[in-house]
Amino acid sequence: MSNNRQDIYMTHKIVILGAGIGGVAAKIYNKNAIIVDKNEKVTVFPRMIQLLSGYPPDHIQYERRVDIQGTVKNINFKEKLIITDKKNLSYDSLIIALGKSQNYSFIPGHEYIYGFNDMQSAMKLKAAVDKSKHICIIGGGYLGAELAGAIKGKDITIVEAGKRLLSGLPERYHRMSLDILQKLGVRVLFNEKVKEVTENSVITDNGKIKSDATVFAGGFTGNSLISELDIKNKNSKVIVDEYLKSKDYDDVYACGDSMAIENSIVPMSAIIARSSGITAMKNALGENKKFIPDNFANIIEIGDYYFGDFFNVPVSGVIARFIKKAAVSQSLNFARSI
Ligand SMILES: Cc1cc2nc3c(=O)[nH]c(=O)nc-3n(C[C@H](O)[C@H](O)[C@H](O)COP(=O)(O)OP(=O)(O)OC[C@H]3O[C@@H](n4cnc5c(N)ncnc54)[C@H](O)[C@@H]3O)c2cc1C
Repeated sequence: MSNNRQDIYMTHKIVILGAGIGGVAAKIYNKNAIIVDKNEKVTVFPRMIQLLSGYPPDHIQYERRVDIQGTVKNINFKEKLIITDKKNLSYDSLIIALGKSQNYSFIPGHEYIYGFNDMQSAMKLKAAVDKSKHICIIGGGYLGAELAGAIKGKDITIVEAGKRLLSGLPERYHRMSLDILQKLGVRVLFNEKVKEVTENSVITDNGKIKSDATVFAGGFTGNSLISELDIKNKNSKVIVDEYLKSKDYDDVYACGDSMAIENSIVPMSAIIARSSGITAMKNALGENKKFIPDNFANIIEIGDYYFGDFFNVPVSGVIARFIKKAAVSQSLNFARSI
């Protein structure tokens, strides 16, 4: 490492907000950065779905160390000051890696809907599912399909507003997931929009579905806090350029689920979060690296079935299962290595 680079590492105070996949990747690249997270434990999101099939919470959350454990409440970008519930913190450069939220408050009766965004919401859903007979899942993306595969012994309906499952992924993903879900006895309704949710039903533009526990799997936004900050954002994601730099502030970067790259649609995935976290850190350190998204693996897990793509090669069965398990274990090892 050159002396100049060493100086930047030591003297330029870089703060990373969020110690999920993107934030941790940034921290591993530059261990001198300060990383802040509200949670003592790291959550392994793909395993969170397995909570519904009976895995215990300690399979999903693990102890890890962050520099400052606190909840970010606000950021004064002009003063370069982060306000947390524990203490205020200044920065020279900032990386926002605060992950995602869900927004379903636009659905009438949203108070009867369970979210699935963090461990707290997952535990609430699990408790509700255990007491219920009829489950309705709003949304047939990967989350809806994987949740339906994980919940056993219930009457499950997926309501999808579009005409296929896993939209945004290749058509064969739709056919494979529909086939698996039908084998598992899951009812899948297409082209039906949810109009209202009540305590025991989901009302669509086509009728009424019995539901004792309704879960929203209709997509994620960036972290809802971001829309409250004084920074340009889209769906609660910081709008950044191809260098992952915010449009408003030269010293502010975003990565992973918290970034919206101008004129580009980038999937919300672990691979993208990790690679963008590294790029954001490189640029915060003074490099000028364009972020080139490459979501080289995509494995779907529905019950005991695994399928997807790995470097554009379709994979399924034990190979797909192995790739998924290995990737998840590697993410966990990374998260615990900071
Ligand atoms: C159920 C589920 C399953 C998934 N399965 C897969 C999969 O199989 N493959 C895949 O590639 N992707 C999967 N994903 C997506 C993947 O997990 C995310 O894209 C990835 O975690 C994004 O990384 P991130 O660093 O942007 O955010 P996160 O990993 O969400 O990290 C955000 C961090 O910010 C912290 N934080 C949030 N708010 C605050 C605050 N106010 N103050 C302080 N800290 C805060 C959180 O505690 C968290 O540690 C899944 C997501 C979910 C929800």
